[in-house]
Amino acid sequence: MQWHHKDVDRIFSELKTSPRGLSSDEAAARLKQFGPNILIEKKKKSPFIMFLYQFRDFMILVLIVAAVISGFIGELSDTIAIVVIVVINAVIGFVQEYRAEKAMEALKKMAAPTATVLRDGQPGTAPASELVPGDLVVLEAGRIVPADMRLVETAHMKVEEAALTGESVPVEKHTEVLPDEDVPLGDRGNMAYKGTFVTSGRGMGVVAETAMKTEFGKIAAMLQEEEEVKTPLQKRMTIFGRKLALAVLVICAVVLGIGLLRGEPPMLMLLTAISLAVAAIPEALPAVITISLAIGAKKLIRQNALIRKLPAVETLGSVTYICSDKTGTLTLNRMTVEELYINGRIVHAGDFAPGEGEENAGRLLMMALALSNDAQAGNGGEILGDPTETALFDIAGRYGFNKAELEKRHRRVAEIPFDSDRKCMTTFHEWNSGFVSFTKGAMDILLEKSADMMLPEGRSAVDCCEIQRVNETMAVDGLRVLYIAMRRWDHLPEDMSHGNIEKELTLIGLVGMIDPPRKEAGEAVAMCRTAGIRTVMITGDHPVTARAIAEKLGILDGDGMAVVTGRELDQLSIEEFEERVEDIRVYARVAPEQKLKIVKALQEKGQYIAVTGDGVNDAPALKRADIGIAMGITGTDVSKEAAHMILLDDNFASIVKAVKEGRMIYDNIRKFIRYLLTTNSGEILTLFLAPVLGLPIPLLPIQILWINLITDGLPALALSAEPAEGDIMTRPPRHPQESIFSGGIGAHAIWVGLLMAGIVIFVQFWSIRSEISNWQTIVFTILCLTQLGHVLAIRSERQSLFRIGLFSNRYLLGAVLFTFLFQMATVYVPILNPIFKTEPLTLVELLFTLALSSIVFFAVELEKFFKRRKTAVSQAY
Ligand code: ATP
Repeated sequence: MQWHHKDVDRIFSELKTSPRGLSSDEAAARLKQFGPNILIEKKKKSPFIMFLYQFRDFMILVLIVAAVISGFIGELSDTIAIVVIVVINAVIGFVQEYRAEKAMEALKKMAAPTATVLRDGQPGTAPASELVPGDLVVLEAGRIVPADMRLVETAHMKVEEAALTGESVPVEKHTEVLPDEDVPLGDRGNMAYKGTFVTSGRGMGVVAETAMKTEFGKIAAMLQEEEEVKTPLQKRMTIFGRKLALAVLVICAVVLGIGLLRGEPPMLMLLTAISLAVAAIPEALPAVITISLAIGAKKLIRQNALIRKLPAVETLGSVTYICSDKTGTLTLNRMTVEELYINGRIVHAGDFAPGEGEENAGRLLMMALALSNDAQAGNGGEILGDPTETALFDIAGRYGFNKAELEKRHRRVAEIPFDSDRKCMTTFHEWNSGFVSFTKGAMDILLEKSADMMLPEGRSAVDCCEIQRVNETMAVDGLRVLYIAMRRWDHLPEDMSHGNIEKELTLIGLVGMIDPPRKEAGEAVAMCRTAGIRTVMITGDHPVTARAIAEKLGILDGDGMAVVTGRELDQLSIEEFEERVEDIRVYARVAPEQKLKIVKALQEKGQYIAVTGDGVNDAPALKRADIGIAMGITGTDVSKEAAHMILLDDNFASIVKAVKEGRMIYDNIRKFIRYLLTTNSGEILTLFLAPVLGLPIPLLPIQILWINLITDGLPALALSAEPAEGDIMTRPPRHPQESIFSGGIGAHAIWVGLLMAGIVIFVQFWSIRSEISNWQTIVFTILCLTQLGHVLAIRSERQSLFRIGLFSNRYLLGAVLFTFLFQMATVYVPILNPIFKTEPLTLVELLFTLALSSIVFFAVELEKFFKRRKTAVSQAY
């Protein structure tokens, strides 16, 4: 279809739609006919395949084969028991992976784009996936074009089409018909294509093609090859896992060799060695980390943080700087006009009398506020639009200047939309026999462009000192000051560039608006300080306003902390800037592009940066930052696409909550790794050292697999429910390059593993010497229960269990009790005895077993005690 070659009327009639858009019923019917506007994704693994994948591990396959062979030549019940355990293990792995996958899907769904669409003549928001041919869609700066569209309205609209054409310079769009049918995509100026994005201006398009029929859809197959990104932790764990696997295999071979030399049955020894390999190789570690991160990401939604890129969960805890936008993030973005400066006087917004007459400044000010305004009255009387705009709309309305009414006489005929680089906007209106342009925006930008100002006695040359003084007076109270100016035109100018339009202005008046700081933001800033995180405010507002707000929030927290403006920033060389960057807490009047410079300079200083952003121009900084955070409510599609995380409530406090949650998730992954490595080390050392010391192999294959199943399963999982440790937000950020094994995890795994093996081997030696027939049951139970004592002791890295309380992680307590009961079942349930080759223990034996099993718990508590004492001593000095 050559949509670009047809005029708008023909498009409307061919697509059976109108400038009011489709009716909701028609849209629903078309959705059924055309299907959802989504690209067909690569086929996902079905749950069954996902389950089968659990067996793809080589050692597990070897184990199954060996078990089956041994079943044929020996006892079949052994084989069945081994296979059952392996299957249960796979089920646990599958359930976890499935949960993680569902969590990721839910995250994806939440991050799915929406579109502003006109249906039944009313603008509304709909998921981009529900767009159908014939829908009228509003496009604004920052929007990703949701379908292929023929444009029917444009206002300075530029679109970046690099995704389709490779051309990264935005192209200006229009609505004119293209005479040639055969025009390359990049030259179709009246079309907007799915996957490209609007960099500036506004427009409206009628959807022509959706889903796979779009140009983007046609090449989508090529884009599907996207590799899944691995988090740094996953990468490191994969490498570590491989090395460990090799070491375990060597040990297993030694165990096998010694066993054979001792004359143990070869098949039994083979099964023992393979079971040991299966139990001790932490092959699932990278997968388990992914699962923890994915489930962590889902939990983060409760803190209003939507994770787009999984590594962000892991790295949140390393953040040392949060560079946050002011408006809406640190403040409420609820603007109210407080003061006006008009006719040479500051008046309170409530005590203002606009006055009469064509040239009356008060009246003109109100007309400018109503007309040069993009807010709209909604159906229920509410005001829709950007908070700055709605505040101005509201005050004009309160004094009887109704936008819709005024527009009947003063139609808007042209405009230069607001952009945060220019910090102003201009609209043109019919005015008697000519035209008027209203320009409103930042005082320091527009003052230079003004020729005169309105005073009661008439126009006079603009008094810069007076205006700056008024601005200062308003800004020290934290007010945002807007400068409202006008210019008369006999004809509409040909050259509509802002350079030509926004000059020789006449100042009508100033408007001072308050946007109160969020209460919880102040508390969050204070929390950041104790957590070793610095808060930096970046704003387009005036430095005086910015300073006032920063002081209220406690961001300017010490001597020598500076406020720097965008202009000053431009004048600093990179070296000079890097020298000062760590002392700057507020950046005022900065253009979004300058955020990138700030992020780079801080990174150069070795800092780990989270940065917020909402506009198109914020995207490079969001991408470059260690954690780019887009705003969920006010953020553009482009910023969301570039970000690692989306803040669903736009609230600064949620970033800090997410950091806290991120630290906790990381801590819990560390605990999990500590637990798993120590458990494995205990098992492998026991099975290695016993034969080396001349004792029989302490455990049978089924017992090894059982311990692995029950101790690696529930208790390890429950560690992820561990609540945050008390010092989580009073300790400094973790260095991003810090190894996951830091803080002595490796040493811990070895010494505790040795202790476990020592206890087990001692008991084995002693029981054999004392001719206790069920020594193997005792050894089996001790090895299992020591793991439970260990998991309780490592719930906190430093605090004693008695301090954090046994009940503060009920999941873990439940898991420990469950595992204990399961183990007791293998000992006391008669039908299980032949399967696990156990015999019931007497009460004395049981008490003896329990007492010995608790040694590990107390030993680890002692380790933590010494750690705490060491810090207390070093702090005292
Ligand atoms: P943040 O603090 O989150 O960076 P900001 O709102 O301070 O955002 P911008 O929205 O870029 O930054 O606004 C910068 C300046 O542009 C404001 O200080 C104000 O002077 C001016 N401005 C903001 N909104 C409008 C508007 N709707 N019309 C005209 N000028 C505006």
